[in-house]
Amino acid sequence: MFFWLSVAVALPAAAAPEQALDVGRGERLLILAPHPDDESLSAAGLAQRVFANGGSVRSVVVTSGDAYVDAVVQQTGKRKPSAADFLAFGERRLDESRRAAQVLGKGFLHLDLLGFSDGSIYSALVSHWRRNQPMRSDFTGFDHVPYSEAVDRGYAQDGQDLLSELVAILRETRPTMIAFPDVMENDSDHAGLGMFTLLAVRDWLAREPSQNIHPKMLAYLIHWRPGWPTGSNWGIAQDWSGQPMQLPDDLPLRGHRRVCLNLMPSEVATKRQAMAEYQTQQLIMGDFLSSFVRSSECFTQLQTGDTQRIENVVEHWRHVRKAFDSHPLTRRKI
Ligand SMILES: [Zn+2]
Repeated sequence: MFFWLSVAVALPAAAAPEQALDVGRGERLLILAPHPDDESLSAAGLAQRVFANGGSVRSVVVTSGDAYVDAVVQQTGKRKPSAADFLAFGERRLDESRRAAQVLGKGFLHLDLLGFSDGSIYSALVSHWRRNQPMRSDFTGFDHVPYSEAVDRGYAQDGQDLLSELVAILRETRPTMIAFPDVMENDSDHAGLGMFTLLAVRDWLAREPSQNIHPKMLAYLIHWRPGWPTGSNWGIAQDWSGQPMQLPDDLPLRGHRRVCLNLMPSEVATKRQAMAEYQTQQLIMGDFLSSFVRSSECFTQLQTGDTQRIENVVEHWRHVRKAFDSHPLTRRKI
């Protein structure tokens, strides 16, 4: 009897109700992505809808994804790839981002490739904040942006500079919608960029107090527990386009609401085409990529006022400087 009671308590809570995401005329969508492919996985359909409704889309990809060791080993055939191999892999991934942006925007998508090192975002936030202490990649050996494809070659990989860059992009773009990684993501670059986004939005709003700015803050989720979304670890790509995306039941709602955009078949088809441009990723995780090509895209929608809570959380993390932990309780507050 007691056993059955325990099982009942351990079951996840009922799925949170989802509301339709409203995309108005002339929206300015800003998508923030930790790695090449995250912008398409999360919001390729939303980007197309914004374009169709007469709006504009800017996509910022922060790192080059150059430290995907298993992929570099697989694709070079070397057991111990060199720094040059990792750099070549990063260049290739940046190029794939350009191709995907072309598919989605037909030349109208404004793409910024910042070219930071893979794995640098979270450490820039908690332990490499100042410019005189930039984060050095263990894979490429660089502590600044090395890529010719990147917006600012030579840019230092530190938290202060990344935050300044994001605030400058927000001020210039004045987005009405921001798609960014949820701070609950089970990946350090993703969770870290979620925190950077909230810090940057807070700074942007603080600089323009007289403006009535209320962008839709849309937190997306790419990495959660293994097996989410369904099919992501099946070992072979499947067609999930007839099924809607569902955020996991055990993702804490935190007082926010969930919104989903139902995609038209043509939008799903173009999303699949964009994902096909990520050849390096298709080779090693085609199952994962295909599991995001569904009939809807879903987000946790935050309010701009929620950005006020981020400072204390980040200060706590800087203070303890602990290694990334999957689901620290402190992140549940945002
Ligand atoms: Zn990623």
